Amino acid sequence: MKRSTLVLAVVCTLTVHFTFAQTSGKQTQVKIQKTSMTREAEIKLGKEAATQIERETEVVKNAEIETWLNQIGQDLAKTPQANAYPYYFKLVNDDSINAFALPGGPMYVHTGLIKAAATEGEVAGVLAHEMSHVALRHGAAQMGKQQTWGTLFGVLGAAAGAIGSQNGQCGMLCQAGQIGAGIGGMAVLTKFSRGFEQDADLNGARMMAASGYNPMDMSRFFDKLAAQSGAASKSSGLEQWLSSHPASGNRSQYVAQDIRFYPKRDYTTSTGNFTRVKQAVASLAPPKLKPAALLTAKAGTSPRTNLPAGFKDMQAAGFSIAYPSNWQAGQANQGGGSLYLIPQGGATQTQNGGLELLVGGMIDYYRPETGAATLEATTNELIRGLEKGDANLRAERPSRLDIGGKAALLTKITTKTSLTREPEQTVFLYTVVRNEMLWNLVFATPPSRSAELSSVFRQMLQTVQFPD
Ligand SMILES: [Zn+2]
Repeated sequence: MKRSTLVLAVVCTLTVHFTFAQTSGKQTQVKIQKTSMTREAEIKLGKEAATQIERETEVVKNAEIETWLNQIGQDLAKTPQANAYPYYFKLVNDDSINAFALPGGPMYVHTGLIKAAATEGEVAGVLAHEMSHVALRHGAAQMGKQQTWGTLFGVLGAAAGAIGSQNGQCGMLCQAGQIGAGIGGMAVLTKFSRGFEQDADLNGARMMAASGYNPMDMSRFFDKLAAQSGAASKSSGLEQWLSSHPASGNRSQYVAQDIRFYPKRDYTTSTGNFTRVKQAVASLAPPKLKPAALLTAKAGTSPRTNLPAGFKDMQAAGFSIAYPSNWQAGQANQGGGSLYLIPQGGATQTQNGGLELLVGGMIDYYRPETGAATLEATTNELIRGLEKGDANLRAERPSRLDIGGKAALLTKITTKTSLTREPEQTVFLYTVVRNEMLWNLVFATPPSRSAELSSVFRQMLQTVQFPD
């Protein structure tokens, strides 16, 4: 896949400008990375990426926890080490031990991380470390070092529904294919080299000290987590964090060395609310299933009976559908993404690394901009988003029907694909509210094959079932 090539390229071409004084008498310098990306572009990119993240993660609305998190974060943000970015902090309902910040300042903390922390200082340490990646412009530098950052930016933008194809080369279903195309694409923004890690540790330690938290809380927590690697890290979901933040030795040791250069002070900062916040986090409802999980085939199922002749069955966690046995079923990338059900040649790779549906079916979940999905309003929001990215798109008024016993809407759409021969495309968009999101099934065909395929689409639609 294009995405993995991209990430690999970053790791290989990254030049690390890092000087680390082992035990010398001089304090180690920490560098703000130079990048061709402007500060405005960096903040804009972070916002686009944040929109994508929030489509795929469950952001918790809980005033007590949010207030606490932002109180610590905004305290740190006032320090000179934070480099005056517009930081904000959100809690994600996910029990893996993880946290990450995006260029320009959006930051996400998993519930699992707060559960794993023993003190408020440890949580503050993770914030300070992640904010340091932002302040030192690490994500932006990794983007800027690639010739193709503009391309990746374009992909992220399209995924967020904010930027469409500029040249009309890639139509609606290319864009739709990227909705939910995976946080994996974010790796370039959130996965760092050892050199960047040390810089973030040292800058983070100085940031903590400046706001009165004990800098050793950060390095001790990190060393504690690193010690849990191996089998234990798999079960706690820690491995993703460990691989994004490779340790380059004993963090506690080099932070302790750095502290020798700080002005003497007592580290007494605390909101005093950590115990109560831990209780609030522990009593949150369990995380909801995400699109990636809902779209994945269930293991160990036997095919349903009464399927149309020559069809095979696809039973995912969120729905079941059958499709012609000479078609292929698969997701756009290994990080998840839309489920494609296509005949030979039914999709094509696009210039910007997306996958464009030409003929066949595609299923995904659309999370509304705010709150839980409703059938009419969220279908309308989805279509408006698609229109923004595709000047050729014409949508008819939706009509009502039932799919798998659930209320559904069918919206007939015409648009153009990137094909030069017969670019016209007819699209049938079916939407159903499921798991507080909009389950959407798309059937696409060029007009010349419409008659031939309409009976296949109808048969597929009749096999759709939902678990309850
Ligand atoms: Zn890091």
